Amino acid sequence: MQTNISSAMSREALRRRTFGIISHPDAGKTTLTEKLLLFGGAIQMAGAVKAKKAQRHATSDWMEVERERGISVSSSVMKFTYADHIINLLDTPGHQDFSEDTYRVLTAVDSALMVIDSVKGVETQTRKLMEVCRMRDTPILTFINKLDREGRDAFDLLSDIEQTLGIQAAPMTWPIGMGKSFQGVYDIERQAIRFFAEDGKKTARPKEALVINGLNDPQLAELIGEDAAEQLRTEIDLLEGAGFPFDKELYLKGKQTPVFFGSAVNNFGVQELLDTLVRLAPGPIPRVAECATGERVVNPLEEDFSGVVFKIQANMDPAHRDRIAFMRICSGRFERGMKVKHHRIGKEVQLSRAITFMAQDREGVEDAWPGDIIGLHNHGTLKIGDTLTTSEPLKFTGIPNFSPEHFRRVQLADPLRSKQLAKGLKQLAEEGAIQVFRPITDSSHILGAVGVLQFDVIIARLKAEYGVIALYEPCPISAARWITSSDRAALESFKSDQQSNLAYDGDDCLAILSSSEWRLSRIIEEWPQITFHTTREIR
Ligand code: GDP
Repeated sequence: MQTNISSAMSREALRRRTFGIISHPDAGKTTLTEKLLLFGGAIQMAGAVKAKKAQRHATSDWMEVERERGISVSSSVMKFTYADHIINLLDTPGHQDFSEDTYRVLTAVDSALMVIDSVKGVETQTRKLMEVCRMRDTPILTFINKLDREGRDAFDLLSDIEQTLGIQAAPMTWPIGMGKSFQGVYDIERQAIRFFAEDGKKTARPKEALVINGLNDPQLAELIGEDAAEQLRTEIDLLEGAGFPFDKELYLKGKQTPVFFGSAVNNFGVQELLDTLVRLAPGPIPRVAECATGERVVNPLEEDFSGVVFKIQANMDPAHRDRIAFMRICSGRFERGMKVKHHRIGKEVQLSRAITFMAQDREGVEDAWPGDIIGLHNHGTLKIGDTLTTSEPLKFTGIPNFSPEHFRRVQLADPLRSKQLAKGLKQLAEEGAIQVFRPITDSSHILGAVGVLQFDVIIARLKAEYGVIALYEPCPISAARWITSSDRAALESFKSDQQSNLAYDGDDCLAILSSSEWRLSRIIEEWPQITFHTTREIR
């Protein structure tokens, strides 16, 4: 029996690929996602993901904010099958104001897919997301999109990736022309040509990759023309001399990114990406957790179940005003109805109604394996960072709060609703939608956000979900740090000295709020016994 479980476990775990897709807005993330889902048979026609987005917008109140601003606030999970592998694709919000959410999503993946617009090159949001990936050494595949447009030179794009993102770029395919003269790509490893055709247009050229006998094969000039053949030979020569050959070890360590060229809207280059993802991207990786004896690495193939909540999303089904906690399974097997220990609250809970997310539907989960993401209906018992296990107490680490950069004081239109306000803010803070600070010298609520759009979402959600009409007052705060110290006497004297600047956050951790970074830096200098933190591990 034992052996059966273990072999099923390794078979199932090893065929999981859980990855996040990241890009600057407009680079083509939605289009590429849709094509990936088409290949995986998860949707039948293009347009479905966008249509779904539009429908969500139309039916949900707080997502009005998204619709009005034309942005995507929420991120979602999509599961599909490809080449006998189970792919869990995690979308991330493109807008920088929701980068905390993106960070949390990226803690749940084993690798990432970065989409870059060939016309624009590396853009600001890509750079920020990349920094996040680097903090965890997440392996990254790169897709340079929109080769059907007159974009930047391919060498230029590679050096942009290397210099701006600080990672080696190893081309796996190489473009033959671009824009109007884009003919396709040369597959460097297989020595094969894939011909480009606009989606839906008939072409006399082969659809499958055509293997040639190296670049000196006389066929090459017949296939793509003498000029293009000469250019391709020169460029590949240059690459061989000065470029980085693909190195799987470096990719898995997050030091090198394999690069593919293509055009998502034309469905070109997408299949190679999926094939590569299945072939090279890591399956579920071991994760570090705090345990009774300190810290240990939890191997995905361990028999005991463990999972961590990395995201909570409200109103996925607006008809039910539901709240779904997304849990990444880190080890062991999930079975419907299983009982697990919820260590933070010290209780046993039964997981009877877990759901999984297909492209357009959600369905009940009977069982799930390491790498999978399941959704749990949450009635306030789960918060971000919670770890559930079947055995020893564990706490997966690495999901931080970032110190907020924008602040607002909340004011109630109707003072009789203060209880509802407090409840709403507590839950919204637990979801990670906002950070809430309670100053120690008065009873107000100060909200802290990494991006200002978060404030609009909170006002809309307080109204829709808690019946609270709240307003913001400007508040003269522009910087915050969490405070700790091993010197208790120093901490006490710091507290009495700085009383009017101190507040507790949603987890009762002490923070200092300051009107400027400059003032804060003076305080930091004056109090060497106190440690000031810009991030705080979620407890
Ligand atoms: P997102 O904001 O990153 O999700 O980007 P979208 O997928 O919504 O794409 C942004 C725009 O780029 C849309 O108008 C797409 O039709 C267009 N687009 C996506 N892929 C390609 C491509 O390969 N070539 C061209 N020319 N346009 C593309």
